[in-house]
Amino acid sequence: MALGKDYATQECSIARALEVVGERWTLLVIRDALYGVRRYNDFLVHLGIPRAVLANRLQALTAEGILEKRRYQESPPRDEYVLTDRGIALWPALRALGIWGREQLGGEPMRTFWHADCGTELSPYGACPTCGALVAVRDIDMRPGPGLDPDPADPVSRALLGPRRLLQPIETEQGAAPRPV
Ligand SMILES: [Zn+2]
Repeated sequence: MALGKDYATQECSIARALEVVGERWTLLVIRDALYGVRRYNDFLVHLGIPRAVLANRLQALTAEGILEKRRYQESPPRDEYVLTDRGIALWPALRALGIWGREQLGGEPMRTFWHADCGTELSPYGACPTCGALVAVRDIDMRPGPGLDPDPADPVSRALLGPRRLLQPIETEQGAAPRPV
């Protein structure tokens, strides 16, 4: 029997959230957007995702108000995809998934997350142990962890190698390249 496309019998808010972000690749697109990826080509090479799937996910996330499409160049026209507040609010869910994956499935941390203001590593639940408060996504610095490949092949992974602020747009040569049809 084919799987249904939604969870029509479920009233729960987890099921409702999964209706929006539960498709394959969707949370990884959001993860990349939190790391500063904004452009089609950059998502494409970093995720290794089929083009049609990426186009579908970007469109769906835009329709759900999680990403906002912004024109950054008129001639030829180019758009980028920027997280809205609604999208940024998925950060704790993604971070919790990452911690669960490492604890339950193994592996070294690829990235670690720090309070930019005071330089303290965040607790698993996103609070700063020094300041005693939850830290806003825009105030979180990401640093490479021991599991991160120090010499990746693709330009987006290279742009994400060093310490950087979450949501800060990445700079890649190929991000500016024409979008292949
Ligand atoms: Zn702090």
